[in-house]
Amino acid sequence: MNIKAFNLENNSRNWNDIFHNPKPVELYSFKTGSVHIHRRGTINPDHPNAENILDETLNVPIMAHLIKHQKFGYYLLDVGLDKSYFYDKYGRLSVPLKEEFYQAKNENIAYHLDKLKINLKMIFLSHLHSDHIAGLRELPIDIPVVVGKGELGHYQPEIYGDFLKGVENVYELDFSKLDSISPMGKCADLLGDGSLWAISTPGHTEGHVSFILNGLNQPTLLTMDAAFINDNIKYGIAPSDYTWDVRMAQKSLDMLINFLNEFNNVKVLAGHEYPED
Ligand SMILES: [Zn+2]
Repeated sequence: MNIKAFNLENNSRNWNDIFHNPKPVELYSFKTGSVHIHRRGTINPDHPNAENILDETLNVPIMAHLIKHQKFGYYLLDVGLDKSYFYDKYGRLSVPLKEEFYQAKNENIAYHLDKLKINLKMIFLSHLHSDHIAGLRELPIDIPVVVGKGELGHYQPEIYGDFLKGVENVYELDFSKLDSISPMGKCADLLGDGSLWAISTPGHTEGHVSFILNGLNQPTLLTMDAAFINDNIKYGIAPSDYTWDVRMAQKSLDMLINFLNEFNNVKVLAGHEYPED
């Protein structure tokens, strides 16, 4: 595996400009399986506003998102699960810390992509948790994979499973060299034309990334795991389960909510929700 820096130009702008220049990009979201999570923990029970959060088990989808750019081609945001989980809820892993996921027939990421007969240009990962990356095992190893800087340092394949095995080129997004675009912090123009943005949202993991797709109909904020479910946004309370730094996760969620309040034309999709339309 070659690890390189993802090449970015520092073209600082503001969101009004960006949204006045939408691009021909479309979003297709796929469910690749599901997982049980707990409402208390998905919504941090220690947050001062969390008193009335009931404890219940939720079954939530494990998502992958395909971006179709009319000029540049196809990109994935996270890859979800491969078909190993249809046969075995642990994805045929033999490592100490594996998680239970559920998958119906033909939900796996390669099935969705094969049906479309497309070639992927690049895969952008929000972070390196298994429910977001396991599907790499059934995708071509020569597709470049991009992660936020800080993720690879915490990656423990011998404990959680080696989903990056065989991947030829991994690129790291180094936000430290980029400008903030208020009210967001550091932002990266991934394709260089303002169509797809990576937003640094550390907390869930150290190098966690959220995305904004600047499509012709309406911009969409994909929080990824900065918010697991819509209620994280509704109540303004970040997740605490599976979280690297809860205080930082809350700060990142607060930033996304400020952004959504300022730009109320932006549609939002939480990490483990299926889009409504
Ligand atoms: Zn995660």
